[in-house]
Parts: sequence; C-alpha cells; structure tokens
Amino acid sequence: MTPDEALQRLLDGNRRFVSDAPEGPHRDPDRRMQQAEGQTPYAVVLGCADSRVAPEIVFDQGIGDLFTVRVAGNTAADDITIANVEFGVRVLGCALVVVLGHEQCGAVKAALEPDSVSGAMASLLPPILPAVEAARGEDDVVAAAVRGNVRNQVAALRQTFADVNVLGAVYDLHTGQVDVLTR
Ligand SMILES: [Zn+2]
Repeated sequence: MTPDEALQRLLDGNRRFVSDAPEGPHRDPDRRMQQAEGQTPYAVVLGCADSRVAPEIVFDQGIGDLFTVRVAGNTAADDITIANVEFGVRVLGCALVVVLGHEQCGAVKAALEPDSVSGAMASLLPPILPAVEAARGEDDVVAAAVRGNVRNQVAALRQTFADVNVLGAVYDLHTGQVDVLTR
C-alpha cells in the first residue's frame, strides 16, 4: 500500500464514522484467525490516550489495520514512544505515520498551566510546551496549541524517520471529523 492509499483508507473510514455509517470492518472471526498468523497494519497512528479518541473507532478500522501508539498529548519525545513508531514502520512496514491530536486535549491544557500538574504526570508536559508558548495570544489558545503541538511532533518524527511519510491531523470531539493539517 502507498502512503496516499493509506491516507485515503483512513479518511474514508473517518467519513463513515462521521456520517453514522460505520462498517466495523475486519472484526469477523476470519480476520481474527488470519491476523493471528501475523499482523499486517498499514498505518501507525500516534494518538492521545484520551478515551474519546480511539483510532480504530474514529477511522472505522478493525483488527490488524492500525499500529496504534497512544500517549497523553500525542508526543514523540521519549525513546519508548519513538521505538514503538519505529517498530510499526521498520518491522511491520506501515506506509504512513499519522500524529493525531484532538480538540480540548487535557495534556495541552495542562501544559498551559504546568504548575498545576504534579507527580509523574509532569513528565508529559515538556514536549508540549513549545507549542503552548507559541500559541499564547491567539484567540483560541488551546486550539492553536493543539495544532502547533501536532506540527511539532510531526517535525520531530520526520527528522527521526526521514524516509517515512508522516502527517499531522486533528480530531474534532463534537463532529468526529479528522482534519489533516500537513502533508
Ligand atoms: Zn489529549
């Protein structure tokens, strides 16, 4: 599958989800049995841990379709996250990496007030801070920071995986729409 075909498949699935006509593909016993012999995902999705933004649901995909890596704030800053993405593209041969941010991201909002965050959760914030600082003064600071953060993570992944197609996208919690930010 080419990167363009992978993107089209994701966007087709999101269109079905948005229009309340999901097909729930690849969830039958045949698919399960076939994928038990070896997974064949076509895209890596680096998404937020937010319970409202499950990639298989919002892209209407099934078993063995997406190699999903989730971390609050959808950041690609630590070795573990990068290793997961690397496994998806280098070992499993995924054609595309999508960084999926979303409206009203709690991690991004927390990064706007980092002093309010305690414990291990504070370690989530540093990779988000540059986008937050750049967004201050915008009409909708959170929305601007969400977009800026996705762009920053895309740039970081493109630097690490120079030969891999990496795109950024933002999910709207209300409409269910995924908008691609960068190509
Ligand atoms: Zn989030």
